[in-house]
Amino acid sequence: MDTTTPPDLFEAESRALLAARASYAASEASADSDDNATAAQPAPCRQALGELLTTYERLLRETRRLVQRSDRAEREMNQLNLRLQHLAGELEYRATHDPLTGVLNRAAIIELVNRHFVCEDLALIVLDIDHFKRVNDSFGHPTGDRVIQGVVSCLKAQVPATAHIGRVGGEEFTVVLPGQSGEACGQVAQALRRALEAHAFDLPDGSGVTASFGVSWLPRGSNFDDAYSLADEALYGAKRGGRNQVAHASGHGQAQPA
Ligand code: GH3
Ligand code: MG
Ligand code: MG
Repeated sequence: MDTTTPPDLFEAESRALLAARASYAASEASADSDDNATAAQPAPCRQALGELLTTYERLLRETRRLVQRSDRAEREMNQLNLRLQHLAGELEYRATHDPLTGVLNRAAIIELVNRHFVCEDLALIVLDIDHFKRVNDSFGHPTGDRVIQGVVSCLKAQVPATAHIGRVGGEEFTVVLPGQSGEACGQVAQALRRALEAHAFDLPDGSGVTASFGVSWLPRGSNFDDAYSLADEALYGAKRGGRNQVAHASGHGQAQPA
């Protein structure tokens, strides 16, 4: 805690006031000892000085009070400002993140992908948990929620540092890999698929959880809708092909099979 005394804003005024007070007292003493025309100051002048001193003292007291009040208001305003900044940060987080898993939500992923496409190529993985409805139906919604959280933990542990994870649907996620080739993206998708397959989700019947993956790669200047459509189409190919597999988008920007 800072224990130093703040400087007195009105030090010069206080000194002048003290000097005037001393002069007034001296003139009063002199008037008492010699109350004829030889007094240091004539009576009206002394009286005017006395009134001036009283008024000035009151003015100084009021000014000090006003300064204190204004300092307090400034401190309160600074505290409110900090709180506002904190709340704005919290709002921003809530608007861009999924509350169940803490990863980016769909809107934030769309914004991020489109922003990256302005200046670089981008690979997109879309994955969807296989037969997830069975988990909910067999073990209840809270267990389903824990599986979703487990999938995200698994993804976080596996993806490269430059990747961004998003939850774009109930049990559907994206992994965005800016500046990566389709081949590299395919390898990441395979690693994620294997990690999920091997992960212990601790379901009551001991069963595991798998996911199907669709991968797309598009050059700089593309957009989220095109990249997502391609990856989604590939994902449904993976579902049709038997699930728990990675499929690559066909057409423009096709990635090589991993
Ligand atoms: P598929 O392999 O074809 O993807 O089959 P699926 O059962 O995974 O897909 P389906 O679309 O039939 O079911 C998805 C289920 O995911 C239905 C929905 O109730 C559930 N779900 C969506 N969001 C959440 C969530 O936040 N928590 C839980 N527990 N379940 C969710
Ligand atoms: Mg599913
Ligand atoms: Mg789905």
